[in-house]
Amino acid sequence: MKIRENYSLKALNTFGLAVKARYFCSLHKLSGVRTLMAWQQEHPDLPLLFLGGGSNILFVNDYPGLVVQVRLETLEVLGQDENYHYVRAGAGNNWHEFVQWTIAQGFAGLENLSLIPGTVGAAPMQNIGAYGVELKDHVYEVQALDWRTAEIRDFNVEECRFTYRDSYFKSVEPDRWLIVAVVLRLPRQPQWKIDYSGVKELLAGKMLNARLISDAIISIRQSKLPDPAEIGNAGSFFKNPLITPAQWAALKTQFPDIPGWPQQGQVKTSAGWLIDQCGWKGKRDGDTGTYAKHALVLVNHGNATGIEVWNFAQTIIASVQDSFGITLEPEPRVIR
Ligand SMILES: Cc1cc2nc3c(=O)[nH]c(=O)nc-3n(C[C@H](O)[C@H](O)[C@H](O)COP(=O)(O)OP(=O)(O)OC[C@H]3O[C@@H](n4cnc5c(N)ncnc54)[C@H](O)[C@@H]3O)c2cc1C
Repeated sequence: MKIRENYSLKALNTFGLAVKARYFCSLHKLSGVRTLMAWQQEHPDLPLLFLGGGSNILFVNDYPGLVVQVRLETLEVLGQDENYHYVRAGAGNNWHEFVQWTIAQGFAGLENLSLIPGTVGAAPMQNIGAYGVELKDHVYEVQALDWRTAEIRDFNVEECRFTYRDSYFKSVEPDRWLIVAVVLRLPRQPQWKIDYSGVKELLAGKMLNARLISDAIISIRQSKLPDPAEIGNAGSFFKNPLITPAQWAALKTQFPDIPGWPQQGQVKTSAGWLIDQCGWKGKRDGDTGTYAKHALVLVNHGNATGIEVWNFAQTIIASVQDSFGITLEPEPRVIR
C-alpha cells in the first residue's frame, strides 16, 4: 500500500476545495489495515480520517494527518427469508450505483435514496435520507472495524443508534470505527413511499415499480440540486432544526408561514425556509455563496477556500439566530 505525501484532495471533496492531505492512501483490501495501523504507531501525533466520496465534508484547511480513502468494493446477495432479500455491500461502493444494482436485481426499498452522492460506508454515518426514506429503514447490520483492536463487530440497527442525520458512528465514537460493509434487508413485498410533494404529482396514476420511482427521484433531484461536477457543494449544508413545541408555537404567531413537522416530541422546521427568509438565497460573496435554487446548499463557484465557505456558513448561522433565535447546525463534517 502506497502512502503519499502532500496529496491533493481537490478531486476527492465535492466542494472542489483545493486542499491537501499531509499523507494519503487508498484502502482496497482489509488486509491493508494492519499496515496502516503499524504506520500510525510510528506517527502517533498525526490524526487519521476515513474518507468516502467526500460529499459530506468541509475541509476548512489542509488536513494535517493521514487520509484513508475507503475503497472496499465487494457486493453480494446473501439470500432471502420469508420477508426480505439480504444484500451486503462493501463500504467503498458508490451509493447510487449500489441502489441501481439492487433495482436491477429486482429488489425494492432503496429507490427513494437514488442519486445521493458518496459511498455505502458513509451512508450509516449520518443515516442518509431523502423523500421520506432513511437508511435505517433498511439496515440489517453495519460491519465496522475497531481501529483500536482491528476486530470487526456487527452492529444491529438498534446499536447503530440512528436518528435524523446522526448515528453512533458519527456522534458517540467518531473515528474509532472503520465501516467496512453494510448489510441491508429489502422487503419482498415493497411498500412504495411516494407521498412526498413533487414525487406524488410525477407518479400520479402510474403503475409503480422501483425503477419508475428511482427515475422520478433522479429527475426531481437533478432539477433542484446542483451537480458537484459543475458547481462545488456538499448538498444541504445545515440540518433542519428541531425545536420545542413552545418555541414553535411562539414563532408560528410571529411567522404564520413557518413550516413544521412534529418529530419525537419536538417540531422539525425547515432550515432552507429560515435561511431564505433572511434573504440568503442565491447570495454570493467572492466565490462562495448559496445556490440560487436552494438556500440550504452552500456552493463553491470555482476558487473559494475552505475558510471562506466556513466563514460564510457562520454568517448565515448568526443571521438565522438573530431573526429566529434558532441555532443552525452544519450537516457535513467540518474539519478545522
Ligand atoms: C448534491 C448532494 C446531494 C446530497 N443529498 C443528500 C440527501 O439527499 N440525503 C443525505 O442524507 N445526504 C445527502 N448528501 C450528503 C452526502 O451525499 C451523504 O452524507 C453521503 O453519505 C456522504 O458519503 P461520502 O462517501 O461522500 O462521505 P464523506 O464525505 O467521504 O465522509 C462523510 C463522513 O463519513 C466518514 N466516513 C466515510 N466513509 C467512512 C467509512 N467507511 N467508515 C467510517 N467513516 C467513514 C468520514 O470520515 C466523514 O466523517 C448530498 C450531498 C451532495 C453533494
